[in-house]
Parts: sequence; structure tokens; C-alpha cells
Amino acid sequence: MAQQDLLPLVKNTIAVSSGKGGVGKSTVAVNLAIGLAQNGAKVGLLDADVYGPSVPKMLDGVSKPKAEPGKITPLEKYGVKFISMALFTDQNTPVIWRGPMASRLIQQFISEVEWGELDYLLVDMPPGTGDVQLTLVQTVPLTGAVVVTTPQEVAVDITTRGLKMFEQVNVPIIGIIENMSYFLCPHCDKRTDVFRHGGGEKAAGTLSVPFLGGVPLDPALALAGDAGNPVVNLKGSKRTASSEAFAKISSELVAHIERVKDKSGKNGENVRIAPKEVKGDGSNMVIEWEDGLTSKIPFEELRVKCPCATCVDETTGQRVITPDRIQAGVSPQAVNQVGRYAVQIKWSDGHDTGIYSYNYLRELSESLAKS
Ligand code: ADP
Repeated sequence: MAQQDLLPLVKNTIAVSSGKGGVGKSTVAVNLAIGLAQNGAKVGLLDADVYGPSVPKMLDGVSKPKAEPGKITPLEKYGVKFISMALFTDQNTPVIWRGPMASRLIQQFISEVEWGELDYLLVDMPPGTGDVQLTLVQTVPLTGAVVVTTPQEVAVDITTRGLKMFEQVNVPIIGIIENMSYFLCPHCDKRTDVFRHGGGEKAAGTLSVPFLGGVPLDPALALAGDAGNPVVNLKGSKRTASSEAFAKISSELVAHIERVKDKSGKNGENVRIAPKEVKGDGSNMVIEWEDGLTSKIPFEELRVKCPCATCVDETTGQRVITPDRIQAGVSPQAVNQVGRYAVQIKWSDGHDTGIYSYNYLRELSESLAKS
């Protein structure tokens, strides 16, 4: 099944990620989800942070979701449907085992949770940019990603690593949010830049991605989260500067999601031409591209041009596999879509580690057409 078809009723799937833990990524994800719902959108929140799943606590989720084979009913609070890995995993499980569990669970959440129609599904990602995160990014059909940072973390390189991961798999960056931006004294309203303020905005500028806004360091935010009533939901005089910041960023987010979708639609910087159909004709892979071009790549040529680390030396870029080592008549046994950007081919000679990005396939087709 094509990845895009996995969540047919979900209009936008947004990853909320961070270069490291503890920057307030889950707090941001929960408050943005509620903020979007307050603006009238249908919203879901998938808590995939298997290392520190705090979403159920923030949403006061004491109840267990109803789970029958193949059908999980999400919980719902403040107009947000949500599901969390914490509700399905034992938090005493050693951290090292949680990565593989995350991959399996997210697939289950995507195919079995009854999300219904949603305008936005936010995915609270595990922090960092390792294999677990990369697998999740490839599993979920993402519209784009939001990166949460703190002023002192920027350390632009940590954020850059996060951005690179999404870029690598062709997921557009919607923008950067700076959390714990500054402290606003509740008594005298004086603003103090506890950490070096402005790092997030500076990083956004350096990396040419939009800055979506800053959220102040707010004791009420932690208290409200712990009490299961996130700040964006506070009413009247209880509202604080962070309640307002989240409301503003939620609206900002909507505009920026539309921006990346516009870009990906045509003349996109992020999504280049994708295939409409990939099939085999006995000895060639036949690709029908969205722009009307049809290309044929002979199976043996495609096998020898496998881009994986076994076939190409990662440091020198030298091809290790050569045409004389390719089995005659080699052909694909399965072609599986990976994220929104590539296919993975399982070959008849048993080789299955090659992920061929659309860009790579297009380049191959074009160079064959020229030769
Ligand atoms: P992450 O998901 O990045 O690991 P969390 O969202 O779980 O981080 O937040 C870590 C802790 O910091 C929580 O106790 C949360 O309440 C607190 N926190 C997050 N953002 C703020 C903020 N802007 N002001 C005060 N406390 C915050």
C-alpha cells in the first residue's frame, strides 16, 4: 500500500521534533494540538516519544484506550484525539529495547487507530536524530516537521542535525519554535532573558527556515501540564504569557503548513517529481512520472546502481558492486514505498538494502536516456 494511502482521512501530518530531550517538545506538541482544535480544526496527537512519553499525563489520560484486534479507539481530551506509546509499553522496559518497539507500535497506530477525519495529526517524535527517529520519519507519511529548540541548545548544530534528517527524507521543514525563550515575572511583568534569548530565531535565519515564535519560561506551564490542563486551555485571568504564545504559534503554524504544501505542490524545493506508477515489464523497471515522462531502467542496470552502503563505499563514494558480479536475469521481487521520497527494492539475488530515492531514479532515467 502506498504510504500516502495509510492515513487517507488525515489532511496534514506534522512531526514535532527536537535535537535532544527536555527542551519541551511534548509540551509544545500538546499545546499546539489544543490550540489548533480551539481554532475549529479536527486534531489528533500521536505520542511516539517512546523515551519520555508525557502526553497522557498532560492530557490527564488516566483511562486506557479501547483496543480490539486491528482497531484501537483513541482517547479524546480538549477536542484532541490522542494515543500514546506510554499506554501500550511498560515504562520499566530498558531504554535500549524501546526503539524497535517504537517502530512496531507506530505502524500499528497508523493502521489501526480510528482517527477518523482529521485536519492535523501531530506526531510527538522521540528526541534526536538516530535510527529510531529516521525509521519513524520513513514510516509516517509526513506533510512537514516542526523543530523545537531552546535558546541555549542552539548550538545551531544540534538543530541542524534535526533539519538534515528531515531534508534527507524529503520532509519539508515548517519552522522552528524556541521554547523557554525568556522569563516574564508574574509580579512585575519584567522580562528576563534567562538563557541567551534569540538562539532559535538566529538558527532559523542561518538555516533559512521560518521562525514560528517563542514560548516563555513559565512556571504555570509546568504546573498546568502536571495537572492535566495545558496552559493554552486556561481561561480568563488564569491565562499567562505562554497561553497567548501557544495560541499565536498555533495560528502561525496553519499558515506555514499551507506554505510548505504550496511549495511541495509545484516548483517545490522539497518534493521533486515523484512517480505516478512503478511496475516491471519482465526485464525493465517502468516508471511513469507525474510530469508525464515514462522511463525504463533495465533491472540489471538498476541492481548494479544500487545506492546502499554495501554496494557503494560510504567514505570514498566508490562503487563496490560491479556489473560482472550481478546475477544474470536478476529482477525485483518486491518494490516497497519508503516515506514520500523513495522505494526499497528486494532483489531476486537476496539483496534488499537499497533505498532508491525518486531523485536518484529520475537521474538514472535521464542519464540512460542521454546514453
Ligand atoms: P521533551 O518532550 O522535550 O522531553 P517536555 O515537554 O516533557 O520535554 O518538558 C520537560 C519539562 O519542562 C516538563 O516538566 C515541562 O513541564 C517543562 N517545561 C517545558 N516547557 C516549559 C516552559 N516554557 N516553561 C516552564 N517549564 C517548561
